[in-house]
Amino acid sequence: MITEKSKPEASPFLDFIPLAVPAIQGNEWRYIKECLDTNWVSSVGPFVDRFESEIAARIGTRFAVATVNGTAALHVALLLAGVKPDDEVLVSTLTFIAPVNAIRYVGAWPVFIDADPDYWQMDPSGVVDFLERGCRWHKGALHNRLTGRRVSAVIPVHILGHPVDLDPILKIARKYNLKMIEDATEGLGATYRGRPLGSIGDLGCFSFNGNKIITTGGGGMLVTSNEEWARKARYLTTQAKDDPTEYVHSEIGYNYRLTNLLAAMGCAQLEQLEAFVTAKQHIASRYAEGLQGLPGISLMKEASWASSSWWLYTVLVDRASFGTDSRQLMHSLNSKKIQTRPLWQPIHLSGAHRGRSAKIMPIAEKLYQQALSLPCSAGLGEKEQNRVIEEVRTIAAGATPEEAPPCN
Ligand SMILES: *Cc1c(COP(=O)(O)O)cnc(C)c1O
Repeated sequence: MITEKSKPEASPFLDFIPLAVPAIQGNEWRYIKECLDTNWVSSVGPFVDRFESEIAARIGTRFAVATVNGTAALHVALLLAGVKPDDEVLVSTLTFIAPVNAIRYVGAWPVFIDADPDYWQMDPSGVVDFLERGCRWHKGALHNRLTGRRVSAVIPVHILGHPVDLDPILKIARKYNLKMIEDATEGLGATYRGRPLGSIGDLGCFSFNGNKIITTGGGGMLVTSNEEWARKARYLTTQAKDDPTEYVHSEIGYNYRLTNLLAAMGCAQLEQLEAFVTAKQHIASRYAEGLQGLPGISLMKEASWASSSWWLYTVLVDRASFGTDSRQLMHSLNSKKIQTRPLWQPIHLSGAHRGRSAKIMPIAEKLYQQALSLPCSAGLGEKEQNRVIEEVRTIAAGATPEEAPPCN
């Protein structure tokens, strides 16, 4: 029989240091056991309600609707925002692929926006430039001049836990009547000008996948202050059932609700959110201290208007001055049992969505070549942090930077 006692002692790392693993050290066992003991295991139950109201309170929206994962939350958010087949939706090119796939699920097309060079997020000037110069107002809606398609929404993706500079994007979205959906899946616990991510746009989406700030194994949440949308989100995520007893449906729905079992884990994880974010901030400042001044390594920065959740601490590796590139550094660290990972291939280059943009996106492409995320589980101790720092320094010392060109 499996009891709480038979849970293996927490020694998560041994000598292998993973990139990011969950920290399960609160009330997870107790709350999940409560579900099992009371038979409330499926998609209705007290922990679902509690998880939703606690997330809404934490984010500062009136409503939250739990979903099976973050991608499902994004899909439903696009439906609620009124994005129609053949519309266009602006989205960061440097992102995990989920929001772009969700745009295609509703039959719309992505318009990719490059990253900004300082904080690596969706560049507001790229959004403004496209909407002001690449589009025209026609019959009460904004249309892409080249494709003639209606542009109906924008999805800023707060990557790595750092906020996108939202004010200029929100301002122009309002001007042209576009809906703004924040992909805040990596930014739970982060704020933009003091406001929690996810609460600033019309809709916000979170993920509780295994490597996110808090986890339910798999799970997601849609947040909004629009009551009609919240009602509709509950309806669409439960197969669009029109009547509480009769199985009659006037719309196509989805089976997208989170189970009570997983919501129980979510409640326990949410109790530890502040501690996780504090741990990640601490890891980030230790890495910054330990790696600063190393030739060829650029550190992640936090904007003056931002408080990051430091989801994945990431550095840039310049091959010429560091001596090896990000991928070689990844392999070298891997041979020392330290797991690291590059960022995502910019989606405008991906086989899945290629051809949607003829433009090159120089910043995202450079970040893709140079970025490497370092281990940053909330449970990562100082000893492990020191090992990462020392190994990077050792590899740097053994690498041979290219000769600087003579300057005269
Ligand atoms: C993790 C993630 C998602 C999707 O979340 P899932 O729960 O895995 O479906 C969406 N967008 C971004 C930026 C993510 O990192």
